[in-house]
Amino acid sequence: MLLYDTLSEQKKELPKPPSGDIKLFVCGPTVYGDIHIGNARTYLVFDTLVHYLRATGHKIFYLQNITDIDDKIINRSKEAGLTPKALAKKYTRIYHRDEKKLGINMVTKYAPATEYIKQIINQVKNLIDKGYAYKLDDGYYFDISKFKEYGKLAKRTALQAEDGVSHIDDHVAKRNKGDFVLWKFSKSGEPSWKTHLGDGRPGWHIEDTAITEHHFGPQYDWHGGGVDIKFPHHEAEITQQESASGKKPLVRLWTHVGSLVVDGKKMSKSLGNIIMAHDFLEKHDARILRYIVLSHHYRSPLNYSKGLVVEAIKSLARIEEFLAKISLVIKNSGDVRFDVKPYEEKFVSAMNDDFNTPEALAAIFILINDANQNIWRFDRGSAENIGKWVFDKAAMLKLSLNVAKIPFKIRRLAKKRELFRHNEQFVQSDLLRKQIEQLGYTVEDTPLGQLVLLAVPKD
Ligand code: AMP
Repeated sequence: MLLYDTLSEQKKELPKPPSGDIKLFVCGPTVYGDIHIGNARTYLVFDTLVHYLRATGHKIFYLQNITDIDDKIINRSKEAGLTPKALAKKYTRIYHRDEKKLGINMVTKYAPATEYIKQIINQVKNLIDKGYAYKLDDGYYFDISKFKEYGKLAKRTALQAEDGVSHIDDHVAKRNKGDFVLWKFSKSGEPSWKTHLGDGRPGWHIEDTAITEHHFGPQYDWHGGGVDIKFPHHEAEITQQESASGKKPLVRLWTHVGSLVVDGKKMSKSLGNIIMAHDFLEKHDARILRYIVLSHHYRSPLNYSKGLVVEAIKSLARIEEFLAKISLVIKNSGDVRFDVKPYEEKFVSAMNDDFNTPEALAAIFILINDANQNIWRFDRGSAENIGKWVFDKAAMLKLSLNVAKIPFKIRRLAKKRELFRHNEQFVQSDLLRKQIEQLGYTVEDTPLGQLVLLAVPKD
């Protein structure tokens, strides 16, 4: 499979280690609040990608960190009247609850930063010993001028790094504006770990390289995350780990997911346009969000709007209606053959060319269009193959299909309606159609008899 690598700016073969699993690390959440649909996009992309790769025979160890100590956690815990630890635990639980509701379940291991303090301290110490880190009155900082390749991922120079400095990394006495904190001495009342470096807590970037070095070693296969943290976070990871180990590259493949914006605007508190995943899930099925995510190429920006929800509902209903027709054809087959092979080739080549899920979905809809031309005349074997193919492809994308069982009451009304139609009592049969529609179903007359379907919600 070819995937676009952000560092080399080229599509590359998925790295396959000579033995063992492909080692993938994806940046997880900072647990100070609920996840929004932008975070969910990134996790859904990797969830589907890993699922697809596993389904096609690859073995993957998927590691994800959880940032459970950070400025935002400390500040939010004060507002919430909880300890930072209790707040982080609460939102870690909520994160896993939301993942479950979203059907995200491919991660092999979650790694909360606070369980890796020993490894973090070792890495900071190593960087100090090798002359990359220096001490100020509030902590240890990485001197980016010491790493000549700083900026190679984000294609920036050290000078252009100045806008990447967060509050925690700020200090007037820093050697370079882009220097970032490795270990922060704690102020009174803040969470703190006792160490010979001075009591304190880790910086944001060091937690990930300490975690990956512990599980994967100084070099590994594949790193992912949202494009919003390519800089400074992922740049800092390369800088730290390649300096600490003297080995490069840190990873063989960098995958970045494009940002999700809402109605053309970045989600922000001030605009009040943040859509939390759990709010979305109160209104819609999880599969709607997955469909929206997969109908955009993972590297492109995704401009979320209500219109996309309507489109996703309609598209899934179209697949389900098609499958309902196919099940009628299986019962009343004809003699026309249909071969799924060209569609299979299209699907597979789209998936293997940089995980092009919109093209893979297009392969399904092209099959539906083509098959609909002759659908009532297919022979049984072809109809069965088509049905199985569509189900299999949806399953590869982790898209659940509701081929709804029609309740007995509705089937009975439909049978009665068919009888009226047969006797040309159209007024009565129309009344029954309306009754069926009021109960949330539709009825369609086909050459093979009535097709009763669950009605598609308006939005
Ligand atoms: P955070 O908790 O903000 O560090 O984000 C957790 C993960 O979600 C990271 O991989 C981010 O890159 C990703 N992420 C954050 N915001 C968005 C967004 N609007 N669209 C897509 N991914 C995002």
